[in-house]
Amino acid sequence: MTGQWLLISYAGLLPFLLFVLLCGDRPTFEGTFLQRMHHFIFAGGCCELLHSLIGFLCGERGTKSCSSVEDYLCDRPNPVLQLFYLSLLGGSYIAIVTTSIQYIPGFYVSVYHKYIGQGAVVVGLLLFVFTSFTDPGVINSKNLEAHISSYPYDGAIYEGKKECRTCKITRPARSKHCSICDRCVARFDHHCGWMNNCIGEKNVRYFLSFLIWHVLLCLYGAFLLGAILLGEVQDRKVIRAITYYYGAPATFRKVYPHVLQWLLAFYSTQVLMMIFLLVVAILLAGFAAYHIWLILVNTTTNETYKWEMYQRWRAELAYTKMLEEQSKRAGRDPPVQKRNPMCGMFNFLSGRDPTLPPRPKLSTFKRENIYNRGIFANLAEVVFPISSRRRAKKKD
Ligand SMILES: [Zn+2]
Ligand SMILES: [Zn+2]
Repeated sequence: MTGQWLLISYAGLLPFLLFVLLCGDRPTFEGTFLQRMHHFIFAGGCCELLHSLIGFLCGERGTKSCSSVEDYLCDRPNPVLQLFYLSLLGGSYIAIVTTSIQYIPGFYVSVYHKYIGQGAVVVGLLLFVFTSFTDPGVINSKNLEAHISSYPYDGAIYEGKKECRTCKITRPARSKHCSICDRCVARFDHHCGWMNNCIGEKNVRYFLSFLIWHVLLCLYGAFLLGAILLGEVQDRKVIRAITYYYGAPATFRKVYPHVLQWLLAFYSTQVLMMIFLLVVAILLAGFAAYHIWLILVNTTTNETYKWEMYQRWRAELAYTKMLEEQSKRAGRDPPVQKRNPMCGMFNFLSGRDPTLPPRPKLSTFKRENIYNRGIFANLAEVVFPISSRRRAKKKD
C-alpha cells in the first residue's frame, strides 16, 4: 500500500514540478506561492542554498570543486545530458525488447508492431541528431544582411541596431548571443542542454518535431505494453480463474485488484515501464504544448523572458513616478524602498516592503508582439525560415 502511494505521489509530483517550471513565472501567478517556488527551484535559489551548505560542510575546497562542476555543467557546451537522453532511450528500448518482444504477436497486438516500434525509435533518434547537430541559425558576416532584413526592430524589446560585444557584429532583431556556445543565433529560443545546441531560427522545427514525436513514442510504448498485458490476461484466462477461485461474479470492481496483483507478480517490469512512459509522456506533452503555443503566437522563450523584463522595467518606472508624485503632494521626500534581506538566498520569500503601497500589476503593461502575423504565417516561418527564403530569392 505504501508503495502504491509512493507511485501516485511520484506521478503527481513530476507534472506539478513541470507546471511550476513552465507556468510559475507567468504574470498570471505574479506574487503567488507558485511564482516564489519557481524562483527558488529554477532560478538559482536552491543552488545558492546548496553552495552555502557545501561551503559550511567542506570549506573552501568543497565550494571551489562545486563551482567548477557547476561551471562545466551549466556554462559550457557538454554532452552530459545528450548521453543521458541516449541512455534513457536505449535503456527503455532494450528493457521493452528483452522483456516483451516475445509476446508479439499477441491477443491484441499484431506482428507489425515489432517493426513499427523499431522504426519509431529510429525516427526519434534521427530527430535528436538533426536538432543537436544542425545549424541553429548562427550569424556570421556572410549571412548578417539576410538576418538583419528578416525582422524589423520593434522598439520595445529590440530597441534598434546594437553591436554584439563578443562577435563584433550588428545584432539582428530577435537574435541573441548564446553565452554557452559563444555565438550569436538568429531568432534565438534557448540553449538546450539535452541537445547540447542552441535552439534558433533554423532548428526549432526539428526541436518541435522531436518533442511531439517523443510524446507519441512514449504513448505508443505505454499503449503497446498495455495491450500486451491485456492480451496475457485474456490468453491465460486470468479473470475466469479469479472468479472461479473467489466464487464471486466477475464485476470489474471485484476483479481488477486481483488482476493488478497478478500483473505486478508476473509482469512487474512491463507495468513499471508503462507507468514510466506515461509520466514521461505527460511531462513532454506539457513542454511540447508550451513550445507549440510559442510558435503559434510567433514568440520565443527568450522573448517571453525579455517581455517580462520589459514589463518589470515599465512597472518599476511607473511605481517610482507614482511614489514621487504622492510624496510631492504630501510635501515629503520619496520613501526609500527597503528589501527583505533574506530574499536573496531564500527568494521564495517576498522581497517587498510592506509599508509601501502595492506595485502595479505587470499585466497592465501590454505586450505588443509585432512578429505575430497569424497562425499559418507563424507556422510557415518556423518550417521555412525567413532568412533562408531571402537567400533563396537572391540566388534566383
Ligand atoms: Zn554574439
Ligand atoms: Zn547555445
